[in-house]
Amino acid sequence: MTRRPVAGVYSSETAVLPSARHLACEIGRNPPITMDEFAEITQHLLRSSPDALIVIDDQGAIRFANDTVSEVFGYAPEQLLGHTLDVLVPERFRNRHMRHVTGFVSEPRSREMGASLGDLYARRADGSEFHAGIRLAPFRINGKLFVAAAIRDTTERQRINEALVAAREEAERANRAKSRFLATASHDLRQPLQTIKLLNAAMTRLARDPEISALLKHQELAIESTARLLNALLDISRLESGAIEPQETRVFLPEMLDSLKSEFDSIAKARGLELQMRAVGVTVLTDRVLFYQLLQNLVGNALKYTDHGSVAIECTLDAGALTMCIRDTGIGIPPDKLERIFDEYYQVDTHGTKRLGVGLGLAIVKEVARLLKFRVKINSVVGQSTDVTVTIPAELVDRASPDLTTVQLHPVGAAPTPTTCILLVEDNDGVRMATELFLKLEGFDVRSAASFAEAMQMAENLREREILVADYHLDSSHTGLEVLTRVRAQHGADVPGVILSGDLPSLMRSLTTAIPSARFLSKPVDTDALLQAVKELSAARPTQSLAGRRANV
Ligand code: ADP
Repeated sequence: MTRRPVAGVYSSETAVLPSARHLACEIGRNPPITMDEFAEITQHLLRSSPDALIVIDDQGAIRFANDTVSEVFGYAPEQLLGHTLDVLVPERFRNRHMRHVTGFVSEPRSREMGASLGDLYARRADGSEFHAGIRLAPFRINGKLFVAAAIRDTTERQRINEALVAAREEAERANRAKSRFLATASHDLRQPLQTIKLLNAAMTRLARDPEISALLKHQELAIESTARLLNALLDISRLESGAIEPQETRVFLPEMLDSLKSEFDSIAKARGLELQMRAVGVTVLTDRVLFYQLLQNLVGNALKYTDHGSVAIECTLDAGALTMCIRDTGIGIPPDKLERIFDEYYQVDTHGTKRLGVGLGLAIVKEVARLLKFRVKINSVVGQSTDVTVTIPAELVDRASPDLTTVQLHPVGAAPTPTTCILLVEDNDGVRMATELFLKLEGFDVRSAASFAEAMQMAENLREREILVADYHLDSSHTGLEVLTRVRAQHGADVPGVILSGDLPSLMRSLTTAIPSARFLSKPVDTDALLQAVKELSAARPTQSLAGRRANV
């Protein structure tokens, strides 16, 4: 093969010599390469470069082009000499390109071309175009500016990039679809589960035979574990689908801990554990429902994984942050498992027992903490204790009048007055029938409405201290809350109400003001929580509800 010299105008004396000495020092050592050898090397490098190499002078004229130019552009190198770069630029980009060249010449520095221009295209001799990657390097010879351009056809790389972006978008779309599916499926499964739960509770009240009672107890445990799984699936899929945007409100910390204490106190007692909470009297600027959900999962875990001793929430405030430490004296977590416990569905199998968990609690905590800009850290000693530290940045804490407050429990569990009347509003036939049966067996005087209209009709003759128990989502866009509001408008603001919702977090978020004498419960509702709510409201002095409660731990 005969070698054509590289086309161009260059002077080996001025341009190559200084580099030659440098190069010879680098690679030559002993014996040093000669100038002829060096010239050969540069010729080879220029020839075999995978990029088309072009040099333009300060007038924009092409003064040098290597062989690869013919592969990339379809021009023989010498055909380009003396022409401006325009010949290699698609016509529609020439004006823009000229401006870019002028800008570059006024401030020359090595750089990737096009970072500010978006996609770059070059034009071949036959008029076809390709996606180009161009690197520019200015240099001076005898004070005169030249610019070297290395140009490569990046069509294939671009195609691969586009395919990767499309694949990622598709994966994200599929992931969102999965989350939506999970959210819808778990939401829709709540109604029948609610019915089964209430019927099971009703049958338990009726059962006289101890064997049947034992079977019903087993059934109740299975129903509870299904409810737990559904709740966790719904929570995580909602968080992952990106549907939840935190809504900042002012959350007074002692109030939040008070709610937690009322929710978990009976569980702690049932497990023979002490539950202590020490709040700092500060206000946290955060999403109330998500904050509660995070603490709910951590306290639930602490109680679940502790057999003896106590669970305590300690809050400390310093200049940098508010720190909440949920400390238990439980079974602990082995050090090698700490990294994975925040993964979805990951559970540490302790002595073969998984303790009624589904492995989603900490994944929910992680997502919520990310949304709220909190940090969560776990320290644990196996067989001794686990400390979960939640750090809330100082800018989210309003420290007006901080003082240590030991949380007092709301008095709960008052006995039902024998005459407590309930107006039940539920549009799902199965759930209505089961709830009515359950409440009647508990000794309440229940009448029920299957629709908004029917509820409004029945409410005209509201009975003495009648409590409204209503599903949130009713027929044709009416809500149980609307029923409560209208009934209160007619009969007074102290008509007590229990609102049941399949999407409690959204409902709580939609409330702009606290609603007195009302309780909000998550579906599928825990029968004990429902009874407790009704009992509290029927007690002489109704107390104000603070936060929605998730009855299942
Ligand atoms: P689960 O539903 O199983 O509780 P989580 O995601 O909440 O799932 O927790 C993951 C695992 O981390 C649990 O299975 C448990 O082994 C471990 N774990 C979480 N909190 C504690 C704790 N306070 N003490 C001991 N182990 C814990």
